[in-house]
Amino acid sequence: MTAADTATVETHCPYCALQCGMGLRPTTGVDGPAVEVVERPDFPVNRGALCGKGRTASELLAPGARLVSPLVRDPDTGELVPAGWDTALDRVAEGLRRAGAVYGRDAVGVFGGGGLTNEKAYALGKFARVVLGTSQIDYNGRFCMSSAAAAQGRAFGLDRGLPFPLADVARTGCVLLVGSNLAETMPPALRYLTELKENGGRLIVVDPRRTRTAEQADLHLAPRPGTDLALALGLLHLVVAEGRVDEEFVAGRTRGWPAARAAAMAHWPEQVERLTGIPVPQLREAVRMFCDAPSSMVLTARGPEQQAKGTDTVGAWINLCLATGRAGRELSGYGCLTGQGNGQGGREHGQKADQLPGYRRLDDPAARRHVAAVWGVDPDALPGPGRSAYELLDALGGDVRALLLMGSNPVVSAPHAAHVEERIRALDFLAVADVVLSETAALADVVLPVAQWAEETGTTTNLEGRVLLRRRALDPPPGVRTDLAVLGGLAARLGHPVGFPTEPAEVFEELRRASAGGPADYSGITYARLAAGDGVFWPCPAERADAAGTAPAPEAAARAGAQVASAATAAAAPEAAARAVTGAQAVGGDPVGLPVHPGTPRLFLERFATPDGRARFVPVTHRPADEEADAGYPVVLTTGRVLAQYQSGAQTRRVAALNAAEPGPYVELHPRLADRLGVADGEPVAVVSRRGRAVAPARVSPAIRPDTVFMPFHWPGEGRANSLTNPALDPVSRMPEFKVCAVRIERLER
Ligand code: SF4
Repeated sequence: MTAADTATVETHCPYCALQCGMGLRPTTGVDGPAVEVVERPDFPVNRGALCGKGRTASELLAPGARLVSPLVRDPDTGELVPAGWDTALDRVAEGLRRAGAVYGRDAVGVFGGGGLTNEKAYALGKFARVVLGTSQIDYNGRFCMSSAAAAQGRAFGLDRGLPFPLADVARTGCVLLVGSNLAETMPPALRYLTELKENGGRLIVVDPRRTRTAEQADLHLAPRPGTDLALALGLLHLVVAEGRVDEEFVAGRTRGWPAARAAAMAHWPEQVERLTGIPVPQLREAVRMFCDAPSSMVLTARGPEQQAKGTDTVGAWINLCLATGRAGRELSGYGCLTGQGNGQGGREHGQKADQLPGYRRLDDPAARRHVAAVWGVDPDALPGPGRSAYELLDALGGDVRALLLMGSNPVVSAPHAAHVEERIRALDFLAVADVVLSETAALADVVLPVAQWAEETGTTTNLEGRVLLRRRALDPPPGVRTDLAVLGGLAARLGHPVGFPTEPAEVFEELRRASAGGPADYSGITYARLAAGDGVFWPCPAERADAAGTAPAPEAAARAGAQVASAATAAAAPEAAARAVTGAQAVGGDPVGLPVHPGTPRLFLERFATPDGRARFVPVTHRPADEEADAGYPVVLTTGRVLAQYQSGAQTRRVAALNAAEPGPYVELHPRLADRLGVADGEPVAVVSRRGRAVAPARVSPAIRPDTVFMPFHWPGEGRANSLTNPALDPVSRMPEFKVCAVRIERLER
């Protein structure tokens, strides 16, 4: 059966950033109306393929797996007990109001999530700044791809995860995939790499583990964790030494090459071999594959990004693309494989500490004026930038006394999680809006049960920058409200009776106006258009193209450049017009038969989004991880995801088939390390870092470096990998160093 059945609702998966298309067909469950997942072969990104998480996603909707009543903490017993919505919302409003009144507005924090729809992310940011008047808002996407976003902004003047459609990956000549195990994190995307190879292209995978993705590679480079930056510099050194720089591209489309070149030339291949553990001949082979191909791409994910030097690390990979002329050209470029379902859109519409809707900067006076006019408030009354996600969590119980948290579970997913849990417990007041009683929600004073993906309409923006419509397929259970209704109810109680619509379509209309003219311009995107097609790539600055078929608002690109360079007088850029010609793919239909603006599938083909249209090399140099292995902690821990679980596991741990497939954490270690420690496969071991301890069974495997251990991070309790991880922050993106920390392995007494 497919989504072509008339009663089947076409929508998208609730989990990762691929946002696979799927159908939801009505059925009858034990508790009443339900839906079942069916394939949707017509949607171009996944062409019907779904991973186990997507196939079982309808189980999340069953009453047994989720909250169906607000909960408030009983002051006498200390237990969470069911309550009515009025009681719960009154308590939340009072908790937030009291903290602001006693300690000041910035004593109230807001923490969002990369799974929230665009409408929710937008409303949450507006709620924080207009109703609460607080600067203290950030979201868990800071832990996801913020380093890549910062590096792209620095180099290209604009961050959109992939500046090209995923389909281009199958058609390029060589893909250099750094720190991504997409065979497990987004399996349907693996087919693009398979097709790449079928088309004669080459695949290089950089990963300290021989993952299922690395097994597909023509060349697998396994660097010591935390040395990806050195690896990129070593490759760039060889590019220069072997005369493979694209001098014409560098001269015509970039700035800053001499300093970046000098930085790379200071990293000799032999030195890079010592740092990374990758032999020089493999470095040369990688350069040969990358440069011999007629076109090539670098794609990064959390491996190089979740480091305290993540921005510079991604910057080094971008420098490699620029020096070889593999950026801003058809089938070439740098891209980031964003992780969370709406990790892309979630960072564009105002729940980030330093951003306003449309991916505008909060410290840009023109941006403040524009958004304040849409919101009907005084721009001077809007707060300034606040703390980043970890810094906000670290301040709980200190400067920040009350927190409203939506769609995130930092007790499991934040670095140095025991400390974060302690800070959450130190709050005067915590309210959590979530679908399930997550480990963080269990600590709340009030828990608000909210509707989820298939129970409400909304938009997400996938890793390609493709804006999609998720449709409502069934009613939420009685006792459950939407996040938008929660914000509307709180706004009314806190003295803002208007301005917080609860209908997603209404919020999206406002979002369109707020984003108009910004780097992430959604003003030309409508629900009707999304409903009629396969999504629209932003920027889409007008509903219709002009009579010549080109975009009518070319200044959007110049404004995108102004975001990074703070140049209010950025030169008008013809990029939007060029994009309409070179990257146009008409998507969807136009109800009145006029040409629609095509959106922008491919960025930078004619110019980058900087004021002068040229990309920027940023000179970067290798530096050690914040915490290197030493005598006390001789092994490096790296963390990641597994096929059957997702993020903090709050949803997937409640799905029987997924739990059966991957029921708990483990510690992957090499047989040589296991022998040295006397550890047998399956034996429980303790992993100890400077911050904590986690216990899980050993999984002995030759697929990992002997100096490295791996733990998935989906579980709470004694196997919580984030009890160990290092909250050292990248100075630019404020990304924590999830991917590298020093540990020792201890055998447990039998
Ligand atoms: Fe859902 Fe991602 Fe799996 Fe696709 S790959 S079905 S979006 S979890």
